[in-house]
Amino acid sequence: MRYVSTRGTAPVLSFEEAMLTGLARDGGLYVPAEIPTLSRGDIAAMAGLSYEEIAFRVMRPFIGDTFTDAEFGDLIARAYAGFGHAARAPLKQLQPNHFLLELFHGPTLAFKDFAMQLIGQLFQAALARRGDRVTIVGATSGDTGSAAMEAFRGLDNVDVFILFPHGRVSDVQRRQMTTVSEDNAHALALTGDFDDCQARLKDMFNHFEFRDRVKLAGVNSINWARVLAQVVYYFSAAVSLAAPHRPVSFCVPTGNFGDIFAGYIAKRMGLPIEKLVIATNQNDILHRAMVSGGYTTEGVTPSISPSMDIQVSSNFERALFEAYDRDGIAVAQLMDELKTGGGFRISQGAIGQLREIFASGRASEAETSAMIKRALPEMCELLCPHTAVGVHVAQDHLGPTPLVTLATAHPAKFPDAVEAATGIRPALPERLGDLFDRPERMRRVENDLTAIEALIEEGVFA
Ligand SMILES: *Cc1c(COP(=O)(O)O)cnc(C)c1O
Repeated sequence: MRYVSTRGTAPVLSFEEAMLTGLARDGGLYVPAEIPTLSRGDIAAMAGLSYEEIAFRVMRPFIGDTFTDAEFGDLIARAYAGFGHAARAPLKQLQPNHFLLELFHGPTLAFKDFAMQLIGQLFQAALARRGDRVTIVGATSGDTGSAAMEAFRGLDNVDVFILFPHGRVSDVQRRQMTTVSEDNAHALALTGDFDDCQARLKDMFNHFEFRDRVKLAGVNSINWARVLAQVVYYFSAAVSLAAPHRPVSFCVPTGNFGDIFAGYIAKRMGLPIEKLVIATNQNDILHRAMVSGGYTTEGVTPSISPSMDIQVSSNFERALFEAYDRDGIAVAQLMDELKTGGGFRISQGAIGQLREIFASGRASEAETSAMIKRALPEMCELLCPHTAVGVHVAQDHLGPTPLVTLATAHPAKFPDAVEAATGIRPALPERLGDLFDRPERMRRVENDLTAIEALIEEGVFA
């Protein structure tokens, strides 16, 4: 299996190379050269299998000869062993024909654990075989950083550094990063906001001397291996609801478009998905683009669902690449217009293709809070604010096809918003009960490239 860039000019890579590289050298994102398909029989045969077995069957065609079947099965087993639920991604009913896919039973209580725990294992195995090591640096507004620290802690061939905006992540999110005790994991609290963290990360990738010296690697949501890991739970959920014999739709709380793009891949692989509903908060660039055909950035307005507060939705580029019939030159031009003019118009043909697959909706702050409040008496469910955005948007898409809304985080990860809406402060699951008693360890750093690089080199070469 070969991987090509959405901008058409970067080198074609293997699965292993695409995973270890992250971003393509032409600025594009890697996608498989062809999307493999599973037959109706293959999908029907998944009924009753464990999450791990479904994961193996769904991902195997994408990884080529990077791992043997036995190795790959073993890495999957290790990735999900630390989850707090035997089903890994259990399905719960909310309303008639409306289901909730609980993706928050991983170690850091958000869906990002599904991909991060797996790529922690895949990186470790690939690097050990190469006799190589890398330095992973990530920027986070909260969930990605905690998931990455948890996934890479204690692994031999990796140092992980996470830049987070000092004082601007929730207490639970910060503690999930700062209470990791292993020597290879480093939480860096930057004086600045999330945009500063991301800008310095980009600077590091463009500082080639530093990049080569520490062997910098990225695990943000544009890494193909992360998208791939998320394809699995679309299959496990749909099969539980009688796919391939019955179609299913999904409603996905969306920020960077990674999670919902995984649903698109599942559909292309042959899973009978009728609609994929994009659910945005008040930062609704994707909803506006679907309605108007114009993709135009406005400033980010902070919300109670902060993991969806985005301005430029990086994985949307992968959907555009498909909607433009894989014309990398056309995609590169759109991205140029975005960079220089703050937006672009999607062609008639492409927006038509996108609308056949994706629907969309948005939830304001008031609607999100109202949904959290209502869900408790009506659905017996304490929703996290991101999930509430999805459940709100889902109300406009209920019908004869079963609809599955993705629950992207546990309510206890965002206790303030949940308490404000319901009066109930959600408790952390028991396995995380001592989070507030564990000692914290972090380094403060100014918003200064040289200072950050010095801290990282000190950590790597210590
Ligand atoms: C990251 C995140 C999202 C958004 O996911 P994308 O893949 O960026 O669309 C939604 N909810 C939670 C809780 C998250 O952490």
